[in-house]
Amino acid sequence: MRNLLLSLIANTEQGRADRHVSVRRYGPGRLVLEGSANPGLFYIQHGRMELLITTPEGNERCMRILSESDLFGLECLYGTVLTPGYQVRAITYSSVVRIDLDLVDHWLATQPEFRRRLATRIAADVLRLEQEREKTLAFSVAERLVCYLRCGESCANLLPTPPEPAAPLPMAILARRIGCSPAYLSRAVRKLIQQGVVQRINHLPRIDCLENFSPCPCSAVPDGTDGLYGLIRSA
Ligand SMILES: [Zn+2]
Repeated sequence: MRNLLLSLIANTEQGRADRHVSVRRYGPGRLVLEGSANPGLFYIQHGRMELLITTPEGNERCMRILSESDLFGLECLYGTVLTPGYQVRAITYSSVVRIDLDLVDHWLATQPEFRRRLATRIAADVLRLEQEREKTLAFSVAERLVCYLRCGESCANLLPTPPEPAAPLPMAILARRIGCSPAYLSRAVRKLIQQGVVQRINHLPRIDCLENFSPCPCSAVPDGTDGLYGLIRSA
Protein backbone atom coordinates (compact mmCIF):
# COMPACT_ATOMS: atom_id res chain seq x y z
CA MET A 1 0.00 0.00 0.00
CA ARG A 2 2.88 2.36 0.82
CA ASN A 3 4.37 2.27 -2.67
CA LEU A 4 0.94 2.54 -4.27
CA LEU A 5 0.08 5.64 -2.22
CA LEU A 6 3.43 7.26 -2.98
CA SER A 7 3.04 6.65 -6.71
CA LEU A 8 -0.57 7.91 -6.67
CA ILE A 9 0.56 11.10 -4.94
CA ALA A 10 3.49 11.48 -7.35
CA ASN A 11 1.11 11.10 -10.31
CA THR A 12 -1.40 13.61 -8.97
CA GLU A 13 -1.28 16.96 -10.73
CA GLN A 14 0.77 19.40 -8.61
CA GLY A 15 -1.97 21.93 -7.82
CA ARG A 16 -4.34 19.18 -6.76
CA ALA A 17 -1.70 17.50 -4.61
CA ASP A 18 -0.93 20.84 -2.93
CA ARG A 19 -4.60 21.26 -2.09
CA HIS A 20 -5.33 17.72 -0.92
CA VAL A 21 -2.13 16.25 0.53
CA SER A 22 -0.36 17.59 3.60
CA VAL A 23 2.39 16.42 5.95
CA ARG A 24 2.41 17.24 9.65
CA ARG A 25 4.69 16.45 12.56
CA TYR A 26 3.49 15.61 16.05
CA GLY A 27 5.27 15.44 19.38
CA PRO A 28 4.71 12.66 21.95
CA GLY A 29 1.19 12.74 23.41
CA ARG A 30 -0.19 15.05 20.73
CA LEU A 31 -3.63 14.35 19.29
CA VAL A 32 -3.40 13.48 15.58
CA LEU A 33 -7.03 12.64 14.81
CA GLU A 34 -10.27 12.74 16.78
CA GLY A 35 -13.48 11.23 15.41
CA SER A 36 -14.66 12.47 12.04
CA ALA A 37 -13.81 16.13 12.71
CA ASN A 38 -11.02 16.15 10.15
CA PRO A 39 -11.67 13.17 7.86
CA GLY A 40 -8.97 11.88 5.58
CA LEU A 41 -6.71 8.94 4.91
CA PHE A 42 -3.64 9.16 7.14
CA TYR A 43 -0.34 7.47 6.45
CA ILE A 44 2.58 7.31 8.91
CA GLN A 45 5.91 8.35 7.40
CA HIS A 46 7.69 7.71 10.67
CA GLY A 47 6.93 7.47 14.36
CA ARG A 48 4.58 5.46 16.58
CA MET A 49 1.01 6.23 17.60
CA GLU A 50 -1.82 4.62 19.51
CA LEU A 51 -5.32 4.17 18.10
CA LEU A 52 -7.84 4.51 20.94
CA ILE A 53 -11.53 3.94 21.43
CA THR A 54 -13.70 4.22 24.53
CA THR A 55 -15.25 1.01 25.86
CA PRO A 56 -18.92 0.87 26.98
CA GLU A 57 -17.58 1.11 30.57
CA GLY A 58 -15.96 4.45 29.70
CA ASN A 59 -12.35 3.20 29.66
CA GLU A 60 -9.86 4.09 26.96
CA ARG A 61 -8.76 1.01 25.06
CA CYS A 62 -5.82 1.01 22.68
CA MET A 63 -6.86 -1.02 19.64
CA ARG A 64 -3.52 -0.94 17.93
CA ILE A 65 -0.07 0.56 18.06
CA LEU A 66 0.56 2.09 14.67
CA SER A 67 4.01 2.55 13.18
CA GLU A 68 5.77 3.48 9.97
CA SER A 69 3.78 2.73 6.79
CA ASP A 70 0.53 2.11 8.70
CA LEU A 71 -2.72 3.73 7.55
CA PHE A 72 -5.46 5.08 9.80
CA GLY A 73 -8.56 7.22 9.73
CA LEU A 74 -10.64 4.81 7.62
CA GLU A 75 -13.19 4.34 10.42
CA CYS A 76 -14.07 8.03 10.33
CA LEU A 77 -13.55 8.74 6.64
CA TYR A 78 -17.25 9.19 5.85
CA GLY A 79 -18.41 10.17 9.31
CA THR A 80 -21.23 7.65 9.20
CA VAL A 81 -19.78 5.11 11.63
CA LEU A 82 -19.97 6.24 15.23
CA THR A 83 -16.78 5.10 16.93
CA PRO A 84 -16.94 6.32 20.55
CA GLY A 85 -13.77 8.03 21.64
CA TYR A 86 -11.92 7.32 18.39
CA GLN A 87 -8.56 9.04 18.73
CA VAL A 88 -5.09 8.65 17.36
CA ARG A 89 -2.30 10.03 19.55
CA ALA A 90 1.43 10.20 18.91
CA ILE A 91 3.65 8.13 21.22
CA THR A 92 6.94 9.35 19.74
CA TYR A 93 7.85 12.25 17.45
CA SER A 94 5.95 11.34 14.32
CA SER A 95 5.36 12.54 10.80
CA VAL A 96 2.02 11.88 9.12
CA VAL A 97 0.73 12.35 5.57
CA ARG A 98 -2.94 13.32 5.32
CA ILE A 99 -4.87 12.80 2.08
CA ASP A 100 -8.20 14.56 2.22
CA LEU A 101 -11.55 13.09 1.34
CA ASP A 102 -11.87 14.68 -2.14
CA LEU A 103 -8.69 13.02 -3.36
CA VAL A 104 -9.50 9.69 -1.66
CA ASP A 105 -12.90 9.78 -3.42
CA HIS A 106 -11.23 10.56 -6.73
CA TRP A 107 -8.84 7.61 -6.36
CA LEU A 108 -11.67 5.29 -5.31
CA ALA A 109 -13.54 6.26 -8.49
CA THR A 110 -10.59 6.07 -10.90
CA GLN A 111 -7.97 3.70 -9.45
CA PRO A 112 -9.14 0.05 -9.27
CA GLU A 113 -5.86 -1.07 -7.66
CA PHE A 114 -6.29 1.49 -4.86
CA ARG A 115 -9.90 0.35 -4.36
CA ARG A 116 -8.89 -3.33 -4.16
CA ARG A 117 -5.97 -2.73 -1.82
CA LEU A 118 -8.07 -0.58 0.50
CA ALA A 119 -10.86 -3.20 0.63
CA THR A 120 -8.29 -5.94 1.34
CA ARG A 121 -6.78 -3.79 4.06
CA ILE A 122 -10.14 -3.24 5.74
CA ALA A 123 -10.98 -6.96 5.56
CA ALA A 124 -7.62 -7.87 7.11
CA ASP A 125 -8.18 -5.37 9.93
CA VAL A 126 -11.62 -6.81 10.68
CA LEU A 127 -10.21 -10.35 10.80
CA ARG A 128 -7.33 -9.29 13.05
CA LEU A 129 -9.68 -7.50 15.48
CA GLU A 130 -11.93 -10.55 15.65
CA GLN A 131 -8.94 -12.81 16.35
CA GLU A 132 -7.69 -10.49 19.03
CA ARG A 133 -11.12 -10.30 20.65
CA GLU A 134 -11.20 -14.11 20.87
CA LYS A 135 -7.73 -14.13 22.37
CA THR A 136 -8.51 -11.35 24.83
CA LEU A 137 -11.48 -13.30 26.12
CA ALA A 138 -9.57 -16.55 26.47
CA PHE A 139 -6.20 -15.28 27.82
CA SER A 140 -5.21 -13.94 31.24
CA VAL A 141 -3.46 -10.56 31.55
CA ALA A 142 -0.09 -12.34 32.01
CA GLU A 143 -0.68 -14.38 28.85
CA ARG A 144 -1.69 -11.30 26.88
CA LEU A 145 1.38 -9.46 28.11
CA VAL A 146 3.75 -12.31 27.25
CA CYS A 147 2.13 -12.59 23.82
CA TYR A 148 2.42 -8.86 23.18
CA LEU A 149 6.07 -8.73 24.25
CA ARG A 150 6.85 -11.77 22.12
CA CYS A 151 4.71 -11.22 19.03
CA GLY A 152 3.98 -7.50 18.92
CA GLU A 153 0.86 -6.41 17.08
CA SER A 154 0.00 -9.80 15.50
CA CYS A 155 0.25 -13.06 17.42
CA ALA A 156 2.30 -15.84 15.85
CA ASN A 157 -0.55 -18.15 16.85
CA LEU A 158 -2.81 -16.45 14.34
CA LEU A 159 -0.47 -15.52 11.53
CA PRO A 160 1.83 -17.81 9.57
CA THR A 161 4.49 -15.06 9.30
CA PRO A 162 7.16 -14.85 12.04
CA PRO A 163 6.21 -12.33 14.74
CA GLU A 164 7.89 -8.97 15.15
CA PRO A 165 8.49 -8.35 18.85
CA ALA A 166 6.94 -5.11 20.06
CA ALA A 167 9.27 -2.18 20.67
CA PRO A 168 9.08 -1.09 24.34
CA LEU A 169 6.04 0.98 25.32
CA PRO A 170 5.46 3.18 28.37
CA MET A 171 3.58 1.17 31.02
CA ALA A 172 0.36 3.22 30.77
CA ILE A 173 0.18 2.71 27.00
CA LEU A 174 1.09 -0.98 27.33
CA ALA A 175 -1.77 -1.40 29.85
CA ARG A 176 -4.26 0.22 27.42
CA ARG A 177 -2.97 -2.01 24.63
CA ILE A 178 -3.22 -5.20 26.72
CA GLY A 179 -6.65 -4.12 27.99
CA CYS A 180 -6.12 -3.87 31.75
CA SER A 181 -5.45 -1.24 34.41
CA PRO A 182 -1.85 -0.02 34.98
CA ALA A 183 -1.97 -1.48 38.52
CA TYR A 184 -3.02 -4.89 37.20
CA LEU A 185 -0.27 -4.77 34.59
CA SER A 186 2.37 -3.90 37.24
CA ARG A 187 1.31 -6.90 39.33
CA ALA A 188 1.48 -9.19 36.29
CA VAL A 189 4.96 -7.86 35.41
CA ARG A 190 6.23 -8.37 38.98
CA LYS A 191 4.97 -11.94 38.98
CA LEU A 192 6.52 -12.70 35.60
CA ILE A 193 9.85 -11.25 36.79
CA GLN A 194 9.75 -13.57 39.83
CA GLN A 195 9.09 -16.51 37.50
CA GLY A 196 12.06 -15.52 35.32
CA VAL A 197 9.92 -14.97 32.22
CA VAL A 198 10.33 -11.21 31.98
CA GLN A 199 13.07 -8.74 32.89
CA ARG A 200 13.01 -4.98 33.11
CA ILE A 201 15.22 -3.01 30.76
CA ASN A 202 15.10 0.75 31.40
CA HIS A 203 12.04 0.09 33.63
CA LEU A 204 10.11 -1.55 30.78
CA PRO A 205 9.28 -5.27 30.64
CA ARG A 206 10.97 -7.42 28.02
CA ILE A 207 10.93 -11.19 27.53
CA ASP A 208 13.80 -12.84 29.41
CA CYS A 209 13.18 -16.59 29.14
CA LEU A 210 9.99 -17.64 27.40
CA GLU A 211 10.58 -21.31 28.35
CA ASN A 212 9.81 -20.36 31.97
CA PHE A 213 6.26 -19.53 30.89
CA SER A 214 4.52 -22.76 30.07
CA PRO A 215 2.45 -23.41 28.11
CA CYS A 216 3.32 -20.47 25.90
CA PRO A 217 0.07 -18.77 24.88
CA CYS A 218 1.36 -18.13 21.35
CA SER A 219 1.99 -21.75 20.44
CA ALA A 220 -1.42 -23.16 21.42
CA VAL A 221 -4.87 -22.25 20.21
CA PRO A 222 -6.88 -21.02 23.21
CA ASP A 223 -9.67 -23.23 24.51
CA GLY A 224 -13.01 -22.79 22.87
CA THR A 225 -11.71 -21.29 19.63
CA ASP A 226 -10.28 -22.70 16.45
CA GLY A 227 -8.16 -19.59 15.89
CA LEU A 228 -7.63 -18.38 12.38
CA TYR A 229 -8.81 -21.55 10.72
CA GLY A 230 -12.15 -21.51 12.47
CA LEU A 231 -12.66 -17.91 11.39
CA ILE A 232 -11.81 -18.64 7.79
CA ARG A 233 -14.13 -21.66 7.77
CA SER A 234 -17.00 -19.67 9.22
CA ALA A 235 -16.37 -16.64 6.99
ZN1 LIG B 1 1.56 -14.28 20.54
